[in-house]
Amino acid sequence: MTIRIFKFGGSCLRNPEAFDKIGEIMQIYSHEKMLFVASALQGVTDKLISIAENAEDSQYISDKVKEIKEQHLQIINEVFKDHSDLKSEATKHVTMMLADVKLILSEIQEFGLQSYFMDYIMSYGEKMSTYLLYLYVKRQGIPSVYLTGEELIITDMNFGNALPIWDLTANRISNDIVPIIEKEDDNTIICVTGFIGRNKIGYITTLGRGGTDFTATIIARCIYDKSSEKDIRVVLWKDVDGILATNPKYADNPKLIEHLNYDEAKEMAFYGAKILHPKCLFGLDKRHIKVEIRSFDNPKSTVFSTIGDKSSGDQITGISTIEDVALLSVTSGSLVSTPGVLAKIFSIMGNNNINVSLVAQSSSEINTTFIVEKKDGAEALRLIKENPFFKGWADAQVQYVSILAVTGKGINKTSVQSKIFESLSTKDIDIIAMAQSSDGLNLSMVLEQKDIKDAVSVINNCSKNM
Ligand code: ASP
Ligand code: MG
Repeated sequence: MTIRIFKFGGSCLRNPEAFDKIGEIMQIYSHEKMLFVASALQGVTDKLISIAENAEDSQYISDKVKEIKEQHLQIINEVFKDHSDLKSEATKHVTMMLADVKLILSEIQEFGLQSYFMDYIMSYGEKMSTYLLYLYVKRQGIPSVYLTGEELIITDMNFGNALPIWDLTANRISNDIVPIIEKEDDNTIICVTGFIGRNKIGYITTLGRGGTDFTATIIARCIYDKSSEKDIRVVLWKDVDGILATNPKYADNPKLIEHLNYDEAKEMAFYGAKILHPKCLFGLDKRHIKVEIRSFDNPKSTVFSTIGDKSSGDQITGISTIEDVALLSVTSGSLVSTPGVLAKIFSIMGNNNINVSLVAQSSSEINTTFIVEKKDGAEALRLIKENPFFKGWADAQVQYVSILAVTGKGINKTSVQSKIFESLSTKDIDIIAMAQSSDGLNLSMVLEQKDIKDAVSVINNCSKNM
């Protein structure tokens, strides 16, 4: 029996027609075991963040809470209009959840915005949306169970970006999900809130923005480990047909990648492909769990992307970008051959919770270049400049740039690289810094922001002729 874990993003729950689509999907897969994972309704997580950040402004929060309530009630009133019992259950649930939110806001007013409050507040988006989905499944006459990520996914203490503790999470899933999934002749659909977990001391955590994808794959992986069912597929229903080779904003008619292997997909997800949570493929390769990216509007379409063992086979699979990042450049002639310089830079960043991505160092060790998020650029510069180790010895600078990353199995071949560079030279685009991974899968180039659109477009064109 195939187990299908379906992830529904906020836009899949936007109106009664969208719920009808879910009904259609339930029909198509009615002969298989399904489990649903849902995100908050569109824009709700952002609204929850903004009310937490403005907790002292009571007018603002009452307006926003009202907005969130209206958004849910509008859907409830339409989706359950002929089901008064479900309608009143849904309304009651949303009202109760928003009362909780107000209570937390009063605690934020009292204690300040502690890190755990933000995750706590954010978790309510999924707790409302998923409950509506759960009631919708019942409305369709199918038995349903509502579970929160808090009950299932046990994480570390890293609020806002938590990682699951695998063995503890697998035990929970083994107890709460596996018995239902393994029961024959039982078509119960379990509905799980995406995005949220809890740490060992009981505080709610979240898995990073867009974390519902991750919830879906965490559950898939744990079912695989704890059940006799090994044929498990995750389907991420999206408002696109699949993963495109690049952002259509920058290039004409980028091709849809029908197959990509886990490594190719990880590279693409990481570099802002925005289609996939960057951590969600972790550990799926060993278990051969496939992830499909499919169009929610067109669930019967046979054209979509599958992430699995099969590679795209292309020299260049995809081109992804991060438009706005900070490039730190630390230059010194005098620290050459001094062990520990890199360790120093990275520990300063790590200790201040600043994530470093691309790194390039000249072999002379005179210049070290690295990328951090835009929001951390000024702080990273200050930390380096004011650190006694570097003071007087090194000069640091920050500039705001874009990254263009090319992914594919041929990236380390000079024949492929020469085409990439030739195509950039036709537009006179210079490369500020560069890093190539030794697995031959990724070439990341730092470019001026003004060049990014042309760069993607010319490389996309040249990749079509390989
Ligand atoms: N609702 C969360 C967010 O907006 C999680 C998700 O959408 O997957 O980031
Ligand atoms: Mg979302």
